[in-house]
Amino acid sequence: MADTLTGRHIVVTGAASGMGHAAALELAARGASLALWDIDFSAVTAIAETLRQSGSLCIGLGVDVSSNAQVEEAMQRSVDLLGHVDGAFNNAGIGVPTISLHSLDEADFDRIVAVNLKGVWLCMKHQIQHMRSRSGGSIVNNASVSGLVALAGQGAYTATKHGVVGLSKAAAVEGAASNIRVNAICPGAVRTAILRHLEQAGITDTALAAMSPQNRIAEPSEIAHAVAWLLSQESSFVTGAALPIDGGWVAQ
Ligand code: NAD
Repeated sequence: MADTLTGRHIVVTGAASGMGHAAALELAARGASLALWDIDFSAVTAIAETLRQSGSLCIGLGVDVSSNAQVEEAMQRSVDLLGHVDGAFNNAGIGVPTISLHSLDEADFDRIVAVNLKGVWLCMKHQIQHMRSRSGGSIVNNASVSGLVALAGQGAYTATKHGVVGLSKAAAVEGAASNIRVNAICPGAVRTAILRHLEQAGITDTALAAMSPQNRIAEPSEIAHAVAWLLSQESSFVTGAALPIDGGWVAQ
């Protein structure tokens, strides 16, 4: 595999599971040094230890991305340990039970906005402050096809993911003069733990697969390849994009 990320120092949030874990493996294989952030401290430190044993410079930090104080401290510790940060995959996110908007609990709405939308903003806030003081960087935010179209019963999730696309575009426009690129990815159904929220509502893997013309669910590694490309110089003229990685779901 090409070392397209050698010398790059990258933060991955939600790195203990699913797409964040797959991205950590892919980025390390391409030569990046990593700061892995997750609310699940024991899982993320175990992944960091495994990557260190394979020769990568990698640290794991326990961080709740919805907390400004925790994100600020994690960014400082990442810079201290890695030397600098010039890339980020802001991927941490949660689902909520599948339920109509008019029946959704206020606490569930507030929590998903805090993690999925405010969390991405807080991470970008501190990453961009650091990148502006250096020579720039590349940020990839994990939105969803729900950042582009709606799924019934997922109104709050859909709103947060449309928000991530909007935040990413705004950050791309603001960051261009400082050599900071910002893109959102919009995956379709990917085989990770978060799909349990849909299973509980009777939305089966077969039904999810049928949402895309390719008629299948993606593996997390397929998303990681796109993330690695967006974080590398190979995508140097790509910024402000909301890239569907969805087997054709939103092309229909
Ligand atoms: P996942 O549940 O496997 O991984 C999510 C990770 O985020 C977990 O490790 C979890 O501990 C961490 N996390 C949750 N809350 C956190 C917080 N407050 N602070 C820090 N870390 C936190 O699920 P996944 O599917 O890999 O999800 C990754 C991202 O992809 C999410 O933003 C999700 O909305 C998005 N997404 C998922 C799908 C899918 O089909 N799986 C599709 C499109 C987008």
